[in-house]
Amino acid sequence: MDEVSIADVLAEVAVLVKPHFGKGQPADYIPQLARVPRSKFGMAVRTVSGQEAVIGDADEGFSVQSITKVFSLGLALNRFGDEVWTRVGKEPSGTPFNHLSQLEAEEGVPRNPFINAGAMAISDLLLDSVRDPAALVRGFASFLADEQVEIDETVAASELATAHQNRAIAHLMRGKGTISHDPEAVVAAYCRQCALTMSCRQLARAMLPLAAGGFSPLVQETIFPERLTRRLNALLLTCGIYDSVGSFAYRVGLPAKSGVGGGIVAVVPGKATIAVWSPELDRFGTSVVGTVALERFSQLTNCSVL
Ligand code: GLU
Repeated sequence: MDEVSIADVLAEVAVLVKPHFGKGQPADYIPQLARVPRSKFGMAVRTVSGQEAVIGDADEGFSVQSITKVFSLGLALNRFGDEVWTRVGKEPSGTPFNHLSQLEAEEGVPRNPFINAGAMAISDLLLDSVRDPAALVRGFASFLADEQVEIDETVAASELATAHQNRAIAHLMRGKGTISHDPEAVVAAYCRQCALTMSCRQLARAMLPLAAGGFSPLVQETIFPERLTRRLNALLLTCGIYDSVGSFAYRVGLPAKSGVGGGIVAVVPGKATIAVWSPELDRFGTSVVGTVALERFSQLTNCSVL
């Protein structure tokens, strides 16, 4: 990847993705997300050595949604260590991100921290130590991006107003004893966290510690211990793209996390982070154009870890 010009690769990728617009649907179950123009496309790459390249709408903020689960999990693991794994598992779910019956069959213990149930279990854990976990996540993301990022309260309210499935998940977990706080407070914290607005450039910068053994070359601080960084990447590779994680690994070959705002971040361990945004989603909730962009980038730079 070092030998090629990343800017040239991004320019090529932007051409290659063109035929793939119009194949997906934006996340209209969160009304505010359905208003984002479908033609948006941005991509940013940041290397551990400090190179940065962007293309398209890479500096426009969008709703990063489930990508925030990487920040909240990292915070929880730093604060609570292995106690996290007494609340959630580490296995791919093979079911949609907001699935209920698997959670019920498995006694309210979420398969992993990236499905909604798992992320809400993490919000519940964070509520043990802070009053406002969404503000904590926002602060952490701002620190990592080295720039202030904000929660879009309109998106948060839009999601909270229609969060029927997430409420069912939280109440089921409260009934089974997985979470200990008021389910309504947990859902509210979770929805506000998901409503964080970031750009591709900010996301690529904020995820950099995952590519650099836990150290942020941007803010010059160790964010995660090296062993934890490897584990976070392992979870991204096996659980980051929900029930299409296998085909994503097959096509892209990188640890990654998707969000229903149409963003995807991917990690090239030891080398770089890549963030891409395009709002049209496949039926699993992952950006169609974003996946193609990462697939082409990985092929052109030969950066797959597999
Ligand atoms: N806030 C979204 C939800 O709960 C997150 C899903 C996602 O981004 O994958 O439905």
